[in-house]
Amino acid sequence: MVRVFSGAQPTGIIHLGNYLGALKQYVDLQNETDCYYCVVNMHALTIPRDPQELKEKTLDVAAIYLAIGLDPKKATLFVQSQVPAHTEAAWLLQCISRVGELSRMVQFKEKSKGSAESAGVGLFTYPILQAADILLYQAEKVPVGEDQRQHIELTRDIAERFNRDYGEVFTLPEILVPKVGAKIMALDEPTKKMSKSAESKWNSIALLDDPKLIEKKLKRAVTDSENQVRYDLETKPGVSNLLTIYSTFSGISIRELERKYEGLGYGQFKKDLIEVTIDYLRPIQERFQEIRHSGYVEEVLKDGAEKANQVANETLSKMRQAMGIIQL
Ligand code: ATP
Ligand code: MG
Repeated sequence: MVRVFSGAQPTGIIHLGNYLGALKQYVDLQNETDCYYCVVNMHALTIPRDPQELKEKTLDVAAIYLAIGLDPKKATLFVQSQVPAHTEAAWLLQCISRVGELSRMVQFKEKSKGSAESAGVGLFTYPILQAADILLYQAEKVPVGEDQRQHIELTRDIAERFNRDYGEVFTLPEILVPKVGAKIMALDEPTKKMSKSAESKWNSIALLDDPKLIEKKLKRAVTDSENQVRYDLETKPGVSNLLTIYSTFSGISIRELERKYEGLGYGQFKKDLIEVTIDYLRPIQERFQEIRHSGYVEEVLKDGAEKANQVANETLSKMRQAMGIIQL
């Protein structure tokens, strides 16, 4: 069975971009693959966090995994820090990684806001921890959004280098991005990707936003002055983004939506999109409320960590052996 690995950071509540780019794929894959889905809380430390909030957000993300339909009988769900092999493997991989290749990572440049001098070292090296996450599970497929392409390529480069220098230990992973929704743009700035850590609350819609807030955010979403519902990424990034969201939530193709709203303008389009979004998210929100404080989430994560530790430790042991790290 094909092995799959992916994860999301507990840096905020999962938003539509995370869902359409990555998490929806997690659910689609759970029936036909052996999948490991992680809440990558160690990655969240790369930017300073309130400790109590980090704990809560870690459980929130796990509860969202369950609320969107991941089934712990089919998919292994766990928290990264519960599997210590990730950090040890990251160190071993750091020792074969190059400063030059990390310096080329676009996300580091963006998140450090161009000031490498004052950026955290963890922010710089975090793609290596991500490589460790993926490689420990010998994952063949990694469902992620388009923004992660460069990190997955780096993971492959590091794995290839390890296999060449120390012998075949790792499977080379392939990126899996959805045909539609691989890069959902920010509502208030549709030339940038939607992001959990964005400063403005108008940037994204979280899966747990209440209907009133969803309405406000979509009403404020940037469009253009043409007032024609038409998909054109170049000249109409805002409307094209909203069409993508509408299409994936409703199952209606973008073409059909363009036809449906011909001559109707943005008012009616947004009104219907608000309804479609609220309706889509309602059952997810209800399920989240049911389970978040029931003890079930913690139970699932403990079981998941046990299974994940077994798989990860097996690969870690091979890494140690290959690199000459004594195991007594
Ligand atoms: P942060 O801003 O803290 O990095 P994020 O919104 O980028 O948060 P991550 O936890 O880093 O979220 O990413 C989780 C998953 O969501 C990854 O697979 C990532 O590729 C995907 N993803 C993130 N943003 C988008 C987006 N705007 N569109 C599609 N997929 C996305
Ligand atoms: Mg991110």
